[in-house]
Amino acid sequence: MPVDHIDVLIVGAGLSGIGAACHLTRRCPDKTYAILESREAIGGTWDLFRYPGVRSDSDMFTLGYSFRPWTDAKAIADGPAIRRYVRETARAYGVVDRIRFHHRVITAEWSSDSAQWTVRAERTDTGERVELTCSFLFCCTGYYRYDEGYTPVLPGIDRFAGPVVHPQHWPDDLDYAGKRVVVIGSGATAVTLVPAMAEQAAHVTMVQRSPTYMAVLPSRDRIADALRRFLSQRTAYALVRWKNVAFSMFTFQLSRRRPQTMKAMLRKGISPHLPAGYDLGTHFAPRYNPWDQRLCLVPDADLFKAVSAGRVAIATDEIDTFTEHGVRLASGAELPADVVITATGLNLLAIGGLRLSVDGTPVDLPNTVAYKGMMLSGVPNFALTVGYTNASWTLKGDLVATYVCRLLRYLDRRGYASVTPLAPASDDLVPLIDLASGYVQRSLDQLPKQGPTAPWRLYQNYPRDVVLMRHRSVADRGVRFARRAGAPVPGGRKVPA
Ligand SMILES: Cc1cc2nc3c(=O)[nH]c(=O)nc-3n(C[C@H](O)[C@H](O)[C@H](O)COP(=O)(O)OP(=O)(O)OC[C@H]3O[C@@H](n4cnc5c(N)ncnc54)[C@H](O)[C@@H]3O)c2cc1C
Repeated sequence: MPVDHIDVLIVGAGLSGIGAACHLTRRCPDKTYAILESREAIGGTWDLFRYPGVRSDSDMFTLGYSFRPWTDAKAIADGPAIRRYVRETARAYGVVDRIRFHHRVITAEWSSDSAQWTVRAERTDTGERVELTCSFLFCCTGYYRYDEGYTPVLPGIDRFAGPVVHPQHWPDDLDYAGKRVVVIGSGATAVTLVPAMAEQAAHVTMVQRSPTYMAVLPSRDRIADALRRFLSQRTAYALVRWKNVAFSMFTFQLSRRRPQTMKAMLRKGISPHLPAGYDLGTHFAPRYNPWDQRLCLVPDADLFKAVSAGRVAIATDEIDTFTEHGVRLASGAELPADVVITATGLNLLAIGGLRLSVDGTPVDLPNTVAYKGMMLSGVPNFALTVGYTNASWTLKGDLVATYVCRLLRYLDRRGYASVTPLAPASDDLVPLIDLASGYVQRSLDQLPKQGPTAPWRLYQNYPRDVVLMRHRSVADRGVRFARRAGAPVPGGRKVPA
């Protein structure tokens, strides 16, 4: 059987993979590409997570693609609306026919002789093995394990008589109407889930070991609404996107430079929505500084309104043990429960668990250094999309895809077959992701590193990256370009084989 060859192989049909395919369609129409997706659907995160109220935690003017305006009324959108947006974008750019569903990519081996990757995948529906080759491998696999969310040791959980559900695997038939619900966790998922469940449940208690910073924002953007009345969708979208980038950069910088001011502002934002005399110090004053972990968004103050209405309680305490009928806390308090939700987070997984090798040598991710946050030292013709930790994922996704297109065109123009990032000269390497969140800290030893300066340092700064990735030359000191052995080079010579 001849092996299928594709110019660019994208792994993953989530927000990033579909975006990457659209960029390729727009900027490199001569390239052949395919997407291998292990699931049976487009959308990744926005198809997988089905818990009540699932929504974005950042505004859609920056979580949407640069090339496709977000036109829905709400700036903080729900999961189904985002899924629809990704699917419609895929349809509009003719991407759907290029997706091979049920293909989990397992290994990719680079050969410098042939200047191509041999990629092996397993069909998740039939178990069949599939092999193909590609010139460029583009990993858009997100950052966490799809098969299993993170659950810490929960003492006595086996004794609990009711259902215990992780939000990553929400059962369609979970009936919690009129029931007492305990949600464990205080991250974005818990903060989303708690007010949504409180609409039907008898009562919801959110049990948190330690508090998280929360910011109240309206789910509709009034400036966007006004601009849309006078300007074209595209112009209004571009303006609001930059407005929101500026706002998120301002709040991030303020958090880093004046954490006390930011703490006071966040507190002032939430206190009017809570009952008078509410114990903010216990439940909403984290031990870390704002943006040491991701800030949680509370659109329209829904969580605080549910607390004020008495439908939701927050318990800041350690869990002593689960009992048959609920949870006993370290303080001795008993929380009766019919249903327990473990909103305890994700398991990080780099490059979708793919095993890479270069000329027969396995690539050890923690021993690689990320170049511009999107390629790996020593790994030719390979890119990965990892979004910002302090801003919307897609801002970076768009830049990475644009950069890959620029690189591909550069390779073609100059007759090169490959581009390989080099490691920085300095040994001063630090973890790729600079967040104190549990899910990041648990997995630091599995991730690539970053270097001390550009192009190996991640500044988590969108305007800076716009300059670096859209406007600066792709041929800088951090990469080496090569022609295939034996290939003709300009001037009539041949590269020695
Ligand atoms: C509940 C939740 C809410 C979030 N909210 C926000 C938010 O508001 N703002 C924000 O910026 N970020 C948010 N994020 C982060 C979010 O993951 C990104 O916004 C974005 O959806 C990532 O898109 P992606 O395509 O890179 O990855 P994913 O959405 O994770 O998609 C990856 C795709 O790759 C496929 N895949 C993985 N491995 C393989 C393999 N080996 N072979 C084949 N296919 C594979 C998966 O099946 C999946 O379809 C949120 C995350 C979660 C879990």
